[in-house]
Amino acid sequence: MAQADLLLIHARLFTMEGPGVGYVADGAVAVQGSRIAAVGTSDALQREYAQAERMDCQGDIVLPGLIDAHMHTGIALLRGTAQDMDHWMQLGIWPFRRHVTDEMAVAGSLVNIIEAMQAGTTTFGDYNSNMAQLMPHYERLGARARVAEMIHSLPPQQGSVPPGELYPLDDTVGEALLQRNIALYEDWHDAGGGRFSVMFGPQGPDLLGGELLQDVFAEARRRQAMVHMHVAQGDREILQMELRHGQRSPAYLDAMGLLGPDLLAVHLTEATDQEVQLLAKRGAAMVYCPGSIGIIDGLVPPAAEFMQQGGRAALGSDQLPGNNCANMWNEMKLAALFNKIKYRDPKVLPAWKALRMATVEGAAAIGLGDQVGSLKPGKYADMIRVDAKAPTLNPILDTAPRNIVPNLVYSLRGHEVHWMMVHGAVVMAERQLLNVDAAAAVAAAQQWAEKMASKARQAGDLDASPLTKWTEQGLL
Ligand SMILES: [Zn+2]
Repeated sequence: MAQADLLLIHARLFTMEGPGVGYVADGAVAVQGSRIAAVGTSDALQREYAQAERMDCQGDIVLPGLIDAHMHTGIALLRGTAQDMDHWMQLGIWPFRRHVTDEMAVAGSLVNIIEAMQAGTTTFGDYNSNMAQLMPHYERLGARARVAEMIHSLPPQQGSVPPGELYPLDDTVGEALLQRNIALYEDWHDAGGGRFSVMFGPQGPDLLGGELLQDVFAEARRRQAMVHMHVAQGDREILQMELRHGQRSPAYLDAMGLLGPDLLAVHLTEATDQEVQLLAKRGAAMVYCPGSIGIIDGLVPPAAEFMQQGGRAALGSDQLPGNNCANMWNEMKLAALFNKIKYRDPKVLPAWKALRMATVEGAAAIGLGDQVGSLKPGKYADMIRVDAKAPTLNPILDTAPRNIVPNLVYSLRGHEVHWMMVHGAVVMAERQLLNVDAAAAVAAAQQWAEKMASKARQAGDLDASPLTKWTEQGLL
């Protein structure tokens, strides 16, 4: 008789194994320690694991936990301050930049993580300039984190920079952040029994000098770590690159030998067809953040083209200032929808493909393909249960035409996720995260946000912000 700590039975199981979604009707999953021991039908696994404690899923949908491959939880306190405008970074985010203390970043991050977990995210691709301070959240809440220090050379006291002007860079700032990334790696890589891992995180080819960028890659490659970096993330970046280096980002990176399978290129918003081909050919992976890029740039990045070229692509919620939510159901739906609209073709990026991007393909893109992303014996036990009785999913048709995946991707809001396991430990039950007081976290963030806004207002940094004007005009 095989041993297991827990046996989930009577689930509508989407293993995400094989080329599709790997559906198992009346499915079961056996969990032993932090890993999945077996996946099969309820009949077979109940016989094999007769002694194991059982959880009857009563027909709920069970899926691998969702992967949010690109986030900046450290700026979550700025939720809703950088949308519907041009120059969102310079005019939306930077006016607050010098007023956000580490305490504020930590308080905002916690709410961001709570929000995402409550909607089914188990793996967080968090990317911040104070990452070590945010790690205790992941440790405490029990989520999986694959993080990077955001390395840039922007002088600390710099406020907004007029759009179109070169921003000042000081590589002593970036060098210090590289040292922080190295320390983060030493402290957290492969920590938590394998729940945490660390990448290197230059913020973008436009935001640090070339020599320093090469140093960052060298440090990453020495450790066989991946590099998480915004690439061709907007016309702002391309303009900076042309002004400073006389080259667009992909050509610049390729000339330095930095395009390869160890690169997780985020956005590629401005990448041309040829540049997309080049990145896919070099084996780089990409993160597509449909909500964020739709809101801040009004664009649809070339994710479909990248995947057509054989590239590995994940989805990300990016940042709360201009996306306003961290909900992977939202990203799946927007990814499918925006590409259908872009190509005027409803067949482009179907629901099952979007679900794969948020699970098995996302895991492969961020370098965790052998650990998470599908329900497979030997992988870590990261799973969610979705309430099969939720009005948003019903009615459910189990046999052809099975409608579950389209309803998940096009209709789920996130609150239907009521149970979550990460690394073999239950971290959410009956819609409650077990290791945090969510209401207290929201209340604390609220206080910090008011302080931050009042400091920025008093310093005059918000005078040029379109949000100030719109507030006065009664539009917000
Ligand atoms: Zn980003």
